[in-house]
Amino acid sequence: MSALRDLYQEVIVDHGRRPRNFGRMAQATRRAEGYNPLCGDRLTLYLRLADDVIVEASFEGAGCAISTASASLMTEALKGMTAAQAEILFTNFHAMLTGNGTAPVPLGKLETLAGVREFPARVKCATLAWHTLHAALHGADEPVSTE
Ligand code: ZN
Repeated sequence: MSALRDLYQEVIVDHGRRPRNFGRMAQATRRAEGYNPLCGDRLTLYLRLADDVIVEASFEGAGCAISTASASLMTEALKGMTAAQAEILFTNFHAMLTGNGTAPVPLGKLETLAGVREFPARVKCATLAWHTLHAALHGADEPVSTE
């Protein structure tokens, strides 16, 4: 179990240090901003949708390793999903972090963040990108705050 924990740790550290899909997207069709005042994490999420499919996702901002890793893993997972599938993924990811700690369905690499559940203050770091995703998909103009 500790080997698995180490592996999970490694994925989070890797994505926290070298986030994937990091940067502004000029061709974005959706955009939303998120802020977690508890930790100071800020991010802007960019999505490019074509026929209701997320063809590209990126983000920029500054935050702790958990929020950055979560945003990085999320943007990787979103590619090729429809908006509806992305919403379902958000629901399942949120359930993993707030429920009994197991994902209702296999979530692949996103399961590396399951351990965050043991640190309630960090759950907001891990879900910031996802709340921002929800806002982007619903076209909300107001910046999202986890508070
Ligand atoms: Zn944070």
